[in-house]
Amino acid sequence: MEKNKYSVLLYYKYVTIEDPAEFAKEHKALCDEIGLMGRILVANEGINGTVSGTKEQTESYMEAMRNDPRFHDTVFKIDESEEHAFKKMKVRHRKELVTLRLENDINPLQTTGKYLSPAEFYEQMQAEDTVVIDARNDYEYDLGHFRGAIKPEIQNFRELPEWIRENKEQFEGKKILTYCTGGIRCEKFSGWLVEEGFEDVSQLHGGIATYGKDDEVQGKLWDGMMYVFDERISVPVNQVEHVVVGKDYFTGEPCERYVNCANPACNKKILCSEENEAFYLRSCSHECRVDERNRYVIQHGLTAEEVEVQLHKIESAAKTAVC
Ligand SMILES: [Zn+2]
Repeated sequence: MEKNKYSVLLYYKYVTIEDPAEFAKEHKALCDEIGLMGRILVANEGINGTVSGTKEQTESYMEAMRNDPRFHDTVFKIDESEEHAFKKMKVRHRKELVTLRLENDINPLQTTGKYLSPAEFYEQMQAEDTVVIDARNDYEYDLGHFRGAIKPEIQNFRELPEWIRENKEQFEGKKILTYCTGGIRCEKFSGWLVEEGFEDVSQLHGGIATYGKDDEVQGKLWDGMMYVFDERISVPVNQVEHVVVGKDYFTGEPCERYVNCANPACNKKILCSEENEAFYLRSCSHECRVDERNRYVIQHGLTAEEVEVQLHKIESAAKTAVC
């Protein structure tokens, strides 16, 4: 297969969009006409998207965007791909581009942390009295992160401000560096930190996606893979070395393969090998395993007896592990 036939674009732009609902409709028509696949969010405060298409298709999309004065300077992070990274094209309008649900919303055009280039970020993350806060969710961190970065115990971005307030003493008086996938979450999060009274707040401009492609730093000090919100699920960052930090949910062995818990009501992201996926019926717990809607059981047409046999095997494996 030709590795470079398709491109995946990741981008955002904070800029006022007057009628997001109407804009979303027109923008969807544009994307459909070009033949793109992906997911785009539109809000009064701007646009955030990730789309895939052939090189020609993504080129003509970027050109269309640059011809619009509102988006003329949008920075596109471009990945090469063998195929589309999405199955559909969705353009949605929302109240916020990234959901923080703050009492007083942050406008990153007015308040945000200092922007650091990849080289500056690489330099400063190694400086004394500096803390690096990962502004992403826990499952993104678990697959890969900057070496030594702090992991907020959150499953959702909107939980981040509360977590920071509860753990304030870790950051007070320190230089704070923040980072996320493409930079959009940090624009608001670092702005919020500034509003919250933290004095020295910086953000990785263009996010991990830009950092991994930078010729100078080459993704250095990144461990593991970067979680992405498309069919690829993960992409490499560090061009110099690959340290696996992901751990198999069941055995703790090094692992970088995500699956979703087969219980649709749970759907938790779990890192596990193919072998463990089959053994544990792709389920995070006994409750999820025996749920009548368990997708693994249904997909594999397992009978009640077969499930019962497997549950016994899991039970004895757990006993052996304890002994
Ligand atoms: Zn589960």
